Amino acid sequence: MQTNILAMDENSLAQAKQLLLQGECVAFPTETVYGLGADARSDAAVENIYRVKGRPQDNPLIVHVHPGYDISSLVFDEQPYVRKLRDAFLPGPLTLVYRSRGKVSAKVSCGLDTLAVRVPSHPDAQRFLRYVDIPVAAPSANRSKHVSPVSARHVYDDLHGKIPLILDGGPCTGGIESTVCDVTGPYPVVLRAGLVSREMIASVAGRCEAYVPKEGEQVRSPGMKYKHYAPACATLYFAADAAEAARAALEENVRAGKRVRVLCEHTLAQKFPAEAVLDLGADAEEMAENLYRLLREAEEAADLLIAVEPAERGGVMTGVLNRLRKACAGE
Ligand code: AMP
Ligand code: MG
Repeated sequence: MQTNILAMDENSLAQAKQLLLQGECVAFPTETVYGLGADARSDAAVENIYRVKGRPQDNPLIVHVHPGYDISSLVFDEQPYVRKLRDAFLPGPLTLVYRSRGKVSAKVSCGLDTLAVRVPSHPDAQRFLRYVDIPVAAPSANRSKHVSPVSARHVYDDLHGKIPLILDGGPCTGGIESTVCDVTGPYPVVLRAGLVSREMIASVAGRCEAYVPKEGEQVRSPGMKYKHYAPACATLYFAADAAEAARAALEENVRAGKRVRVLCEHTLAQKFPAEAVLDLGADAEEMAENLYRLLREAEEAADLLIAVEPAERGGVMTGVLNRLRKACAGE
């Protein structure tokens, strides 16, 4: 199958809609990462997503809709704080997990009685979703477990030959996947940290907890149990206060003839040779925007990536650290 990369216009949108209605997958930009979209109402189309990505069959998908879409046709939202969250953060990088009305393919939620719904803020994502005007199931548009894509080229590198169309909206500025927040209970529970932090949600809803799976308990967000976001090169992971040890590891591996890169926050960059450094940036939002692009640069340029953990500072940093540890520390 030939994979076309097209800018978004009337012609590419019409193609995208036709492909979706035929059960094919179409990649599209969002403010977080590129999504691999398919018609959420169709079993066969949703199965296609899992097949194209090589995604485990028990890791449910997020349904994407445009801001004008009537979400209440898909889900129940009995909790009084849900409207406040929607008013404060949507459209945007916050996915809410509701009780499902069962109106989309059961394969979207892998048989769970809940449905994850997101309303992206990216203008091209909204244009695409408005044009097709159906609920679009979409995980990140990468090979399962690989680094998430933040450009059309990244999608192409992972999925060319497997999907017919990538809608190109330029680089994603959010850079990490949406916050996933369960709103089925008396207070919201963050299942996956992201650009809308637990603290931000708590400030609107009054209370918000981070989900911690208990020993032996069935995982509430099945995606959490998989290794993820990993670059193709080998990785070494160092704690925030272990920059000296990271430097020694760099020197040792360079002496052994390896091509090495060091991923670290801006304040640590001068501790390493400039040509080896992949500078994540200074604040959490900047690091989120740069993380996946730099992981992909590392796997192209290096045999070994040495990651030095940025200091934890709460907020959006929680999401950045979660991705970085899963990518480089084998968590
Ligand atoms: P991805 O599409 O790759 O960004 O991953 C989607 C994330 O949302 C995964 O961590 C899923 O486990 C989570 N998710 C999707 N649907 C549900 C749901 N119904 N309940 C809990 N978590 C969900
Ligand atoms: Mg993903």
